[in-house]
Amino acid sequence: MRLALKPGLLPVWRDNDTLQIGIDPRRAVAITGIGRVAALIGLLDGSRDRQAVISAARAHGIAADTADRLISLLAAAGVLDDFPAGTLRTLPDALRTRLAPELATTSLAHGDGDGGARALARRSATYVRVYGAGKVGACIATLLAAAGIGHVACRDTGTAFAADLAPAGLCAADIGEPRSAGAARAVGRSAPETRTDDDTRRPDLAVLAGSHGPELAAGLLADDVPHLTAAAGEAIGIVGPLVIPGRSACLRCLDMARAERDPAWPMVLAQLIGRQLSTPACDCVLATSVAAQASAQVLTFVDRGGRADAVTNGTLELVLPDWQWRRRTWHRSRVAAAAARVLGPAAAAGPRRRRAPASGTWTENPASSGQCRS
Ligand SMILES: [Zn+2]
Repeated sequence: MRLALKPGLLPVWRDNDTLQIGIDPRRAVAITGIGRVAALIGLLDGSRDRQAVISAARAHGIAADTADRLISLLAAAGVLDDFPAGTLRTLPDALRTRLAPELATTSLAHGDGDGGARALARRSATYVRVYGAGKVGACIATLLAAAGIGHVACRDTGTAFAADLAPAGLCAADIGEPRSAGAARAVGRSAPETRTDDDTRRPDLAVLAGSHGPELAAGLLADDVPHLTAAAGEAIGIVGPLVIPGRSACLRCLDMARAERDPAWPMVLAQLIGRQLSTPACDCVLATSVAAQASAQVLTFVDRGGRADAVTNGTLELVLPDWQWRRRTWHRSRVAAAAARVLGPAAAAGPRRRRAPASGTWTENPASSGQCRS
C-alpha cells in the first residue's frame, strides 16, 4: 500500500500552523497544530508505505508516534489515499497517467481511501454493450472507454450519416460506413486498450441509446441484464430509467404509466417503431450532454456495485433551452405490485420468478398476463 494525499486536493496553509487540504469547502479539510511536522506532508507522495513514511519522517526529526498519529488523522479526515502497490504495478505507465484524473475523481467523489483502486478494478472487468451507435451512443462508448471500462461493444446495423457525427463520437471519415465499426474506431482513438468486439457474452450492463423496439428491452429483462436508456430528440434529453430486472421500474412500467395519463399513448407508441426523423432536433451539445449523463450513471452503477439511485425508478431530463437536469420519479406498475402481492416477494424478484413453484401463477395471473415483466 502506498500513502498519498488525494491528488485531487491542493494543500494550502491557512496560517503557520494550519494546513487546509482542498479549496472548495465542500471538500476541504483543515488540520491545526501541524506546523512543526509539516515535512511529513511532503512524504505522502505515493512512493512509500506507512512504515516507510514514518521512517523517513524520523530523518526530519519527527517522532514515530507523532508521524503515526498524523497519518491516522489525515486518513480519518478522508484526505489520504492508500493505493495498493500491486494494482499500481499492473498498470502500464501510459495507462496509469491517462486514468489518473478518473481515479482521482472517483476516489474523491465517493470518499474511497484506496485512490480509486477498487473502482478501477471494477471498471476494467466490466463489459458494457451499447445498442445504437449514433450521435449519443458512440459518445457514450468513447466516454466509458476513456473512463476505464474494459470492454465496450456497440451494436448497430445502420450506416453513419452526417447527422450522426459528434466530436466525441463518429467522425467525417465514418460517413457511409457501418456505425458500429465507426464507434469501435472512436473508442480506439480515446482508449486503445479497450476491447470493442461484440461477442455473444451476456454484458454486465446494456445501454439503449436512441429508440429501439420493445423486444430489445424484453430480451434484456428475460436475460436479467440491467439496462439504461439514453435518448435525445425534440430538443429534450432523457437519461433513464436504469432497469434492474426484478427490482425497479422497467420500460413497460413507464409506458403503462404514460397510458394511464394518455389513453392514446399505446397507439402513438406503436407508430414510433422503426421510424426516425431525418433531421432530429438533437444538436451536438445536447447529444454530448445526454451521453455524459448516461456515462456518469453507468460509472456510478459500476463503481457502487450495482447502484445508481438517480436513474433507478427515475429519469433525468434536460429540456432546452433551460439546460437544467431535472429528475422525474417513476414507479413499478401497479400490475406488477398486484402480482407481487399474489405471489409473495420472491415471485416479485423479476426474471427469477421463473424459478417460482410450478403452482405459481405469475404468467397465468390475469393481473400480470402480458403486462409488466419486471
Ligand atoms: Zn415493469
